[in-house]
Amino acid sequence: MDIRIELTKNPKVKPTDESKLGFGGVFTDHMFLMNYTEGKGWHDPRIVPYGPIPMDPSCMVFHYAQEIFEGMKAYRTQDDTIQLFRPQENFKRLNNSCERMVIPKLDEDFLLEALKKLVEVEKDWVPHQKDTSLYIRPFIIASDAVLGVHPAKTYIYAVILSPSGPYYKGGLNPVKIYVETKYVRAVRGGMGMVKTGGNYAASLIAQEEASREGYSQVLWLDGVERKYVEEVGAMNVFFVIGDEIVTPALTGSILPGITRKSVVEMLKEWGYNVNERRLSVEELEAAAASGQLKEAFGTGTAAVISPIGELKCNGKVTVINNNEIGPISQKLYDHLTGIQWGRLPDTHGWIVKCC
Ligand SMILES: *Cc1c(COP(=O)(O)O)cnc(C)c1O
Repeated sequence: MDIRIELTKNPKVKPTDESKLGFGGVFTDHMFLMNYTEGKGWHDPRIVPYGPIPMDPSCMVFHYAQEIFEGMKAYRTQDDTIQLFRPQENFKRLNNSCERMVIPKLDEDFLLEALKKLVEVEKDWVPHQKDTSLYIRPFIIASDAVLGVHPAKTYIYAVILSPSGPYYKGGLNPVKIYVETKYVRAVRGGMGMVKTGGNYAASLIAQEEASREGYSQVLWLDGVERKYVEEVGAMNVFFVIGDEIVTPALTGSILPGITRKSVVEMLKEWGYNVNERRLSVEELEAAAASGQLKEAFGTGTAAVISPIGELKCNGKVTVINNNEIGPISQKLYDHLTGIQWGRLPDTHGWIVKCC
């Protein structure tokens, strides 16, 4: 498919102070759009000026939330090239999300080609300062103008881009986590393993209540027994217990993070004893009590590695590694960000150059 390109006649003024960018509030001049129509397939791929997408008030996505999304970044290297980190994994996951949400699948190679083209058009929007990036948000929405409950016959695939500031201002500060015992995020058989807005909607109330108590995220437990650790906020989670590194196994209610996958692969390569298995809160508390809980951290595209300094569970507070970032967390952060921003060699074939 040929991608039609229509360039804007009114380019925006780019933010001058990149350190003040924050996250997700500034968008570039262009976006990528493509439509699906039953009987016709995905068609009309185009790069057009960024702007509102007209939709009928009965548009299906507004009512029944048939939608999915992805999250990734483009990084500017020291020699001024722009690159992506494992984007094929994102498009593979997008198609997995399609399957669960009954959305017609897309050609992953074409999506990558289209993304590279869009980033190339917007390359001047990729910020320059250390630890800044261009956040990439592909998404699909059901666009039929009808209220019937069934999979839509028309969809819109879109990609928008947002220059983002450094995630950490002043070092990797450990966060305080509240172990959530009242609400659940997802259940096996539900949609916890796909990137869909409904999971986020379900999680907001827990996030609100935790932050009222001074905690920045919640640690989600499994939705059935409320016993096993699943994720932290919208990140995967790892614990260093004695000489073992544990992350919850992907049992169906956990989102398979690409950062998680990369961390597991790196740790194995470095010779660590890393296991994907069930981990109960009880085991975690016992490990903390015996001094075996050495480090804990979340993983995700936005933060890369987010150290956990404190866990609160049923009123009991556990401090981890003296509320400081641990050596394994720091090493992972340095290596992953090193590869992403091109400061370290890409020995895994994880990098895709845009321009
Ligand atoms: C996106 C996401 C993650 C992290 O995935 P990455 O590919 O590492 O960014 C983890 N948990 C949830 C719920 C997510 O939506």
